[in-house]
Amino acid sequence: MVKILKFGGSSLQSPERVQFVANIVLGEAEKTNILVVVSAFHHVTNQLLECAERAAAKQTNYIDLFNTIAERHREVLKKLIQKPMDDSIESLLKELESNLQGIYLLHECSKRSLDTIASFGERLSAQTITLYLQKHHPADYVDARKWIVTDDHYTQAEVLFPKTNKAIQEYFNKMPHSTIPVVTGFIAATEEGQTTTIGRNGSDYSAAIIGAALNAEIIEIWTDVDGIYTADPCVVEKAYVIPHMSYEEAMELSHFGAKVLHSASIAPAIKQQIPIRIKNTFNPAAPGTLINSHPDKTHKGVKGISSIADVTLLTLRGINMVGVPGTAERLFRALARQNINIILISQASSEHTICFAINDPDVKAAEMALSNEFRYELENLLIKVEKKPQQTIIAVVGDDMIGTPGVAGKFCYALGQNKVNINAIAQGASERNISLAINAKQSMLALNAVHQFFFEAHKRLALCFIGVGNVGAALLSLIEQQSAALYEKGYDVKVCIIANSKQFIFDTKGLDLEHWKTNLQNSTEKFNIETMLRLLATTQFTHVALVDCTASSDIVSNYPLFVENNVHIVTPNKKANVLPWNEYQAFIKLLEVRQCHFLFEANVGAGLPIISTLQDLLMGGDSIIKIEGIFSGTLSYLFNQYDGQGDFSEIIKQAHEQGFTEPDPREDLSGNDVARKLLILERQLGRKMDFEDIVIENLIPPHLREGKFSGQFYQQFQEYNDLLKRRFEQAQKNDCVLRYVGTLDEKGVRAELQEVPRSHPLALAKHSDNIIAFTTQRYSLSPLVVQGPGAGAAVTAMGVFSDIVKLLHYLPY
Ligand code: ADP
Ligand code: ASP
Ligand code: MG
Repeated sequence: MVKILKFGGSSLQSPERVQFVANIVLGEAEKTNILVVVSAFHHVTNQLLECAERAAAKQTNYIDLFNTIAERHREVLKKLIQKPMDDSIESLLKELESNLQGIYLLHECSKRSLDTIASFGERLSAQTITLYLQKHHPADYVDARKWIVTDDHYTQAEVLFPKTNKAIQEYFNKMPHSTIPVVTGFIAATEEGQTTTIGRNGSDYSAAIIGAALNAEIIEIWTDVDGIYTADPCVVEKAYVIPHMSYEEAMELSHFGAKVLHSASIAPAIKQQIPIRIKNTFNPAAPGTLINSHPDKTHKGVKGISSIADVTLLTLRGINMVGVPGTAERLFRALARQNINIILISQASSEHTICFAINDPDVKAAEMALSNEFRYELENLLIKVEKKPQQTIIAVVGDDMIGTPGVAGKFCYALGQNKVNINAIAQGASERNISLAINAKQSMLALNAVHQFFFEAHKRLALCFIGVGNVGAALLSLIEQQSAALYEKGYDVKVCIIANSKQFIFDTKGLDLEHWKTNLQNSTEKFNIETMLRLLATTQFTHVALVDCTASSDIVSNYPLFVENNVHIVTPNKKANVLPWNEYQAFIKLLEVRQCHFLFEANVGAGLPIISTLQDLLMGGDSIIKIEGIFSGTLSYLFNQYDGQGDFSEIIKQAHEQGFTEPDPREDLSGNDVARKLLILERQLGRKMDFEDIVIENLIPPHLREGKFSGQFYQQFQEYNDLLKRRFEQAQKNDCVLRYVGTLDEKGVRAELQEVPRSHPLALAKHSDNIIAFTTQRYSLSPLVVQGPGAGAAVTAMGVFSDIVKLLHYLPY
């Protein structure tokens, strides 16, 4: 019995790789009887066809391309057999050149000539490889035009099997067993001996035809990947090899675009029950994918995903189609007459429309066929034809989908979650395939989303970081530190963009978080949100979140743009939550419509769980009676330090010097920041409120509120020191402490200096702690209290990080 080894162009890219292939062949020949089928060297078929096109267009530079092709083969010979010129190769090149010259002179290139030109690719590669093998082992070059007989359907010729099988068997049986036949893939000939080809990528098919004719033990397809993957590994990075599949599954996957195996190759193998194995030339030890008729007991459900690009959807729409038998039949007959391959058909049960997908190059012919067939209906406006170009068909395939409910639902859900619109959907009668059409520009996202849903254990989230101040930098190192732990929990989180206000850095697969600082400094990419969004759309992460670590209104004004691009938002930036009510409402609506999450735990109390506690209480059906608290770390510190003895302004000064205040301490003293936090909480309660509605006690004397901040402030504060002293003493008399408290209850929302009884929870806050007490219907006797440091980069970063984790939980897959 013979074993067939087929090597594709992807394995034949360079002299070194050709040698690698030849060594595999020699190794196998030691073990068993083999027959080798080869494609043209990598891309040579394309180059040959381009040559022919140039020649037909009277472009003399076809010669340059011809010379490139010639040199590639000579280079291989030189490296492999130390002989750049070989008569057999040179005579093939001469023949090719004169054929091209003929096309140039005729100014025309028929499909028949195209096939002749294309045939040189396989003839040259098979001949070259034979020459090398012959140095080590008997080997014979076999021109498949003597073996494979076809009709004269040039470029897509149909194989005439009885004649082909006979020819293969006769020739093969005459060959000595010890010789390795090296057969040209892809090419064949008519009975009259005219050169044909059996369709692009057809060498796999050649191998299967020969394997079936010789009743081979196995057909091995050697290529550049480890086997058939759950999706094209070039598009879906997380795809993995499927160890075993049925003939039918392989057929469906390859038919729907998995070009790793030509779909026609399966039929000859099924007929003789010959197993096919896909192997990797560059990793021969990998087991590859085995295709045979045994059912797969280890894997249930969807087996793989594939896609076909460059497709157009045509829809025949009209009232006249309801109940009129034969419309579909007329349609498909008209298309069949033009040899147009239909990839997908779907008809609505109302029968108003028939929608079908075809390859782009067939569109003109299809439109022509339709306008001829339905001339009367079109002229009388009884039907119309609609066209949707730039489509991609995505198919999920698997034997076990038969009778498995819910596969179509999950398929559509995965796309819906990623805002991928489905333009047509069809389920093959075999139920082994569900395919649908989507807009081509979303195909990468769609393939990754569907793959993630059906095949991956990890949820994938890409982060776009804007702002790398203290909080941003702390958060980046937290993410770096925790990413392995997240991965273990099933989350693959990568930072794909890091931006400051001037420039950014980007990596689709995730940035190196060890060296981001220098990389960012050296980056030449100018800060531009549109560019960043465009780049994010090219990552293979199905979910993307903006992490806004700035305090900038400009970034906030771009939030809607992010959301429209399906980007979730996580931020310590308060600006969005305090926008004027109408703008805020519009933003919240947009989030709802786009189903995007907006998380902002660190807006109040930095890392303390304030927002989430409030949301949990509300979700639990509790009702809020009162929220009161010390919301400002700075004010907390100032009043904790103040003992009524020295000047209050002196304490402000010290705090300022130690960096416990904003650069301008008046921002803390004004109470505005406390008021903003109250506004955020109030809005969480679903109440309409604007900043102006909050009563704020400003601790800065009116005449000191304007102008630039300077050291003089402390002297001018003098008269206010006395006032504060008096209030302090009054509080002491009442067994109270003086605290700047934010309150939200039925009386309204206010931020003010208050006397707090020493026994009250708020009086217990130490240092610069925040403390927030929730009095609710359930927590009515004593309030639920959250207390701890409420400012600082590390704890704020923790708050944002907890939002990222929360977002991961929310993501559906
Ligand atoms: P050859 O030149 O060896 O015939 P091809 O380029 O025709 O190789 O086929 C191999 C390529 O098929 C791979 O490099 C890969 O990008 C692509 N491919 C598409 N879908 C799949 C899939 N599901 N599994 C593996 N490879 C796939
Ligand atoms: N060389 C041919 C092509 O490029 C056949 C093949 O590679 O299988 O289409
Ligand atoms: Mg191929």
